[in-house]
Amino acid sequence: MAERGTGPKTATILRQIPAVEELLHQECVQALLRVHPRWVVLDAVRETLSALREQLLRESRKGKAEPEGINLPHLLDRIRLETTRRARPSLRRLINATGIVLHTNIGRAPLSAAAVARLEEVARHYSTLELDLETGERGSRQVHVESLLRRLTGGEAALAVNNNAAAVLLAVNTLAEGQEVVVSRGELVEIGGSFRIPDVMGKAGATLREVGTTNRTHLRDYATARSERTALFLKVHPSNFRIEGFTAEVPLSALVALGRPHALPVMFDMGSGALIDLSPHGLTAEPTVGEALRAGADLVTFSGDKLLGGPQAGLLVGKAEIIARCRKNPLARAVRIDKLSLAALEATLTTYLDQDRVAVELPTLRMISASGLEVRERAQAVLAALGETSSGGFRVDLEEERARVGGGALPTESLPTTCVVLIPEALPAERLEAALRAAEPPVLGRIRDNKVLLDMRTVQTEEVPLLIGILRHLMDQE
Ligand SMILES: *Cc1c(COP(=O)(O)O)cnc(C)c1O
Repeated sequence: MAERGTGPKTATILRQIPAVEELLHQECVQALLRVHPRWVVLDAVRETLSALREQLLRESRKGKAEPEGINLPHLLDRIRLETTRRARPSLRRLINATGIVLHTNIGRAPLSAAAVARLEEVARHYSTLELDLETGERGSRQVHVESLLRRLTGGEAALAVNNNAAAVLLAVNTLAEGQEVVVSRGELVEIGGSFRIPDVMGKAGATLREVGTTNRTHLRDYATARSERTALFLKVHPSNFRIEGFTAEVPLSALVALGRPHALPVMFDMGSGALIDLSPHGLTAEPTVGEALRAGADLVTFSGDKLLGGPQAGLLVGKAEIIARCRKNPLARAVRIDKLSLAALEATLTTYLDQDRVAVELPTLRMISASGLEVRERAQAVLAALGETSSGGFRVDLEEERARVGGGALPTESLPTTCVVLIPEALPAERLEAALRAAEPPVLGRIRDNKVLLDMRTVQTEEVPLLIGILRHLMDQE
């Protein structure tokens, strides 16, 4: 039975495609069956055969020279690759060569060794999660981080929840449900596509009262907007953008002074929320959580996995009375932090108690604070291992570049960095970039001017040999 549009020779070859049963008896498929579940191997065999069939038909339709016949070793190789592809986990590690230290799509902050150790212990065993060991009675999971957060920020009380979006939702709902929240039009930000401050106001049951203009908001704008319906002045850190030029914004302390006679609380959603001054690490001063509280903010919210360098979490720090109300809100249970994040968060915060260790032990701060020289040396190590002669269809070189912090932190700032640059000789850079994404582990870089840039600021030192191995493998292919 010849298929439509195929010559008799193609039909003959299609008949030569081995049957599934036949392949399952091959020694190398038997070996796969010993380590992988049968359904995985079976699916891989079927998928490979159907792809082969499609390929043969396509070639014949294009009027190509009739295919040569079935190459069995090659076919078995494809089955082996397809099986490992299907058997491996979906969520797995990746090498970040984008130069963006905090990148939401690839998991933001890698954890410190200490955080991973705490997380593992709590994951493998029962724990003191909500047990007061002295009384033997039920305790609060918040005790594990609250005093650390208080000490590190100077806040009266603290609460950790699932993420910062949840922290903002919980806070606005607690403080302003059924009432108005005054926010500057210059701060109605959208973070990562789905989190928009105006939408969160609505979901929290509060009415947004926008004041000022995109570029300028004055204290009198807040004063005019305030009424007996107002429950909260909210300031939002314009995380991922900056308005430059003719601008005016109201400092936190002025807003606090405006609210005080009316007992109006001021909340600051800081987004990234630096715990320490980052200017010694080459970044212009980002206000710290402690500074915001000292300026009089009643409540500050920020993420655990942005500049802080810990696990996904949302942190609320501020006045004891406000935190107590947030805790009692039934939403607090819906957005509570899980024990693994809590364990990693406690360890991360503990690292901050020794300011000299922070930039050494927390991977994100280590990447941010690495000197340009240190990054260049890492790039030179890769170049030295690979050599400058071209092979695999590309040549390797180094280029000085600028890296970014990302994750909604310091969008206009950059750090000096060095990239390992793959310069394709014939194929387009897209092919090379895709091959790197298909590697194990995948490597994520970026393309510029038909070159693939691998930014070494975000490649951790212990990942360098792995990256070299992946690049060598690519070079060996022709
Ligand atoms: C990132 C960010 C959020 C959301 O925080 P998640 O931890 O991602 O939920 C909220 N507000 C601001 C200002 C942010 O930068």
